[in-house]
Amino acid sequence: MAKDILELAAERVVVFDGAMGTMLLASGLPTGGTPELWNIEQPDIVEEIHRKYFNAGSDVVHTNTFGGTALKLADKGHEDKAESVNLAAVQIAKKACPEGRFVAGDIGPTGRMLPPVGTATTEELEETFYQQAKTLLQGGADLISVETMFSLEESLAAVRAAKKAGDCPVVAAVTYNKTPNGFFTMMGESVVQSAEAFEAVGVDVFASNCTLGSSDMLELVKDMKAATTLPVLIQPNAGKPVADDGGPTRYEQTAQEFAQDIKRIVDAGADMVGGCCGTNAEFIMEMVKHIQ
Ligand SMILES: [Zn+2]
Repeated sequence: MAKDILELAAERVVVFDGAMGTMLLASGLPTGGTPELWNIEQPDIVEEIHRKYFNAGSDVVHTNTFGGTALKLADKGHEDKAESVNLAAVQIAKKACPEGRFVAGDIGPTGRMLPPVGTATTEELEETFYQQAKTLLQGGADLISVETMFSLEESLAAVRAAKKAGDCPVVAAVTYNKTPNGFFTMMGESVVQSAEAFEAVGVDVFASNCTLGSSDMLELVKDMKAATTLPVLIQPNAGKPVADDGGPTRYEQTAQEFAQDIKRIVDAGADMVGGCCGTNAEFIMEMVKHIQ
């Protein structure tokens, strides 16, 4: 029987991919466009991005479905396309995926807030995540990756939905801000609270991505390892964003600088690593060289 990512992680460090959005923008996706529609409109470009990551040494790539819940797609009136864009996304990634590597069905935030901040209900979030996870698994995703979650409650709704949708490993990544008192989600949840809650719902990989650059994530990984016995996945941004007036957000860390920090993150205990905003296939290639 083929290995799953958990078995692979028991043997060596598992390498995920870098950013999808960064690569799509570089390929001509207009700022403010809906990346998921490119699974239908520009499938060759999406497939080429997956291939670049696999060629760079990624063991796992994420489907282009970060904003693929019907609730999120509804922001731009595309909720009726939820099933077709998610199904197409998995098919594209599987086409690019070599034997023995993996496709992670990507689930990101809905953009709806739970009380006290917003009026969304846990039930409606869980329902939209369930529909997305079911389609991703029907398409043949090997695992589900819940990522860039600013709220622990929303990520728990996604994890419960993914577990209900099928029997596969589930990665859960929240994004933390660094404060003088440690690392907290936007909603104020700590690393220890996150780990306990994820373990209680059966998460397989305790993860964090986005917001923080690689040097801050080197501190974060130590807190995460101390809080759990689950495998830990770390996906930093390429340093701190540089926002020029009116221009798009840029990241100025080099692939070498990033890869050197990733090596330290692995030495500090990370079981799986990848990149987030600002990273591309070159970052993954450098990373693989440094950790081999
Ligand atoms: Zn990011």
